[in-house]
Amino acid sequence: MMRPKLAVWKFASCDGCQLSLLDCEDELLTVADQVEIAYFMEASRATVAGPYDLSLVEGSITTAHDAERIREVRRQSKRLVTIGACATAGGIQALRNFQDVRAFTEIVYARPGYISTLAQSTPIGQHVLVDFELRGCPIDKHQLLEVIAAFIQRRRPVIRTDSVCTECKRRGTVCVMVADGTPCLGPVTQAGCGAICPSFDRGCYGCFGPTESPNTAALAAWWRRLGASDTDILRAYRNFNAWASPFREESEAHERRER
Ligand code: SF4
Ligand code: SF4
Repeated sequence: MMRPKLAVWKFASCDGCQLSLLDCEDELLTVADQVEIAYFMEASRATVAGPYDLSLVEGSITTAHDAERIREVRRQSKRLVTIGACATAGGIQALRNFQDVRAFTEIVYARPGYISTLAQSTPIGQHVLVDFELRGCPIDKHQLLEVIAAFIQRRRPVIRTDSVCTECKRRGTVCVMVADGTPCLGPVTQAGCGAICPSFDRGCYGCFGPTESPNTAALAAWWRRLGASDTDILRAYRNFNAWASPFREESEAHERRER
């Protein structure tokens, strides 16, 4: 029987989410039995021509060339899944969306005139139809395996959309915000990591992006009671997922109050 063809694509990103696939180690041979890894430049030299049954796309769109290339990837893909904060929310590179990108290139490059970039770093879903978005910076390998398994079994992936707080409760981790007064983004951040940071007595800094309908303003009010300033709150929401609407709007509200 023909195995479905899997392609893995990279746009502006650090490769961390692609490495999550290689990090599957024990499960990778099983994955390779079930799908043909047809295009994966991070891990192989040989490529197989499209069309592809499943494309995993890492990274954000930051150049006009990439905006054209993602349309070609979409044309070649029956199903397209975005992986990671860059692909689903513009990534850390979207921090420049709040500033003048030309000013940055003039600071960093000796010949900024050679730099050709879009004014904004945008998620893949802003350019083409996306069949499923997998959150995280980087993504969780178990969730990635669930997405691939769901594709093979022709069903919707079972990925939780509740908050990191529920993961703390499940694992019996004492709430760092209530017990210790540590500011934490857990209440507005999507589950999936197993609440790693609170289990090490740290606040969550939101790397899995916003939950469904997060009350970012209520959490900001709690942070304020704990002594956080508008600048602290702005910076907390302006991180890996700064261009995700709920985090972006909350950070902009505190930016206005800061002035
Ligand atoms: S989401 Fe994070 S880990 Fe994944 S590619 Fe972007 S920066 Fe790297
Ligand atoms: S920052 Fe939050 S979402 Fe990211 S690993 Fe830590 S607890 Fe999980």
